[in-house]
Amino acid sequence: MIRTSKLAASVKPSATIAAGTKARQLKAAGIKVFDFSLGEPDFNTPQHICDAAEKAAESGQTHYTPTAGTAEVKAAICKWYKAFHGLDCTPEQVIVSNGAKHSIHNALAATVGPGDEVIIPTPYWVSYSDLVSMTGATPVLVNTTAESGFKMSPAQLKAALTPNSRLLMLNSPNNPTGTVYTRAELEALVDALEKTEVAVLSDEIYEQLTYGDLTPTCVATLRPWLKDRTITISGASKSYAMTGWRMGWAVAPAAVVKAMDTIQSQETSCPSSVSQAALVAALTGPQECVAEMRKEFAARRELTLSLLNAIPGVKLPAPGGAFYAFFDVTAYFGRTFGGTKVTDSLSFCNALLEQAHVNLVPGVAFGAEGFVRMSFATNRATIEAGLAKLKEWLASAN
Ligand code: PMP
Ligand code: GLU
Repeated sequence: MIRTSKLAASVKPSATIAAGTKARQLKAAGIKVFDFSLGEPDFNTPQHICDAAEKAAESGQTHYTPTAGTAEVKAAICKWYKAFHGLDCTPEQVIVSNGAKHSIHNALAATVGPGDEVIIPTPYWVSYSDLVSMTGATPVLVNTTAESGFKMSPAQLKAALTPNSRLLMLNSPNNPTGTVYTRAELEALVDALEKTEVAVLSDEIYEQLTYGDLTPTCVATLRPWLKDRTITISGASKSYAMTGWRMGWAVAPAAVVKAMDTIQSQETSCPSSVSQAALVAALTGPQECVAEMRKEFAARRELTLSLLNAIPGVKLPAPGGAFYAFFDVTAYFGRTFGGTKVTDSLSFCNALLEQAHVNLVPGVAFGAEGFVRMSFATNRATIEAGLAKLKEWLASAN
């Protein structure tokens, strides 16, 4: 018998991946599922990006590349940051990994460990706390509420600081709430760190998906002193519908990138050569595809909000970015559905999936009991039919 490790026993499975797997199993068994679990665009990757990958494979770009990525991909990332955010960076400050999740893992592994504290505002993306725990560092959760638009205040941040604080994780636009901090709000937050040695890991993967007049902010550009203390994370999964290509990156001070490069060289060598060629095309090619997908997400957001707001007992702030609705369902806790009593977000999601075949992710996985997350990165017909089903199921409560 092979015993599994303490590390393996300490890691929780990703709740988003688990919910997606459940839906896939039900679909394979012939059941029609209204699946709003995974945050994954339903669009295919734009054609010119696929063409670039095909050309790369055919022309022999099928070998290992430098661990942190090709010169072309790093140059494309630097050019994109200058154009999109006005951020200057050099190739030594860029590392490409196998998805932004991998970039976050490497960034944490390169900067924190046992005895260190990492401040994470809740609700947070499902993987943050486990990725921190895997390094031996301690996640310090700061609870935010729907009333504050799920925003952490500078006073809350200051109260969470201790001599062991090493890193603050920010994520705007946010998964799961869709919260977008304004530039001024972020300035006030980071100013609370100026006289400390706390660094910032800013996950900006939804930066090209904001709605109305909201705009994304690149945290590294907020203050001159902050650039040397910020690790910016992003990736192609969301903006370019490239989840399966596994392209994520970090922009950080050269010494941090070097440490991440060393870790990555032992872990995975380079990311896929063909995917890197696709990423170059994504970042340097025509950007209309991004605007078109954003327009469709905006329409789905409107539809989702109008349908959810018409359900009695459901409460949510309008998401300013990303493609999630994060709503309060506590009005239904203590009620019985088809003989099953719902007591929390997990039992709510389980009963909803079993009885009505609507798949949501429980808020508890994001550190926010009482809520559930719906991804609206799926077509409008599914949103309409699935939310009608949800409404009908909720009305059946005893
Ligand atoms: N950060 C956030 C906030 C996310 O929602 C996701 C979702 N996939 C990721 C990082 C990781 O993305 P990927 O690994 O596909 O690049
Ligand atoms: N980030 C997406 C989500 O939150 C995809 C799944 C994952 O990477 O966990 O659903």
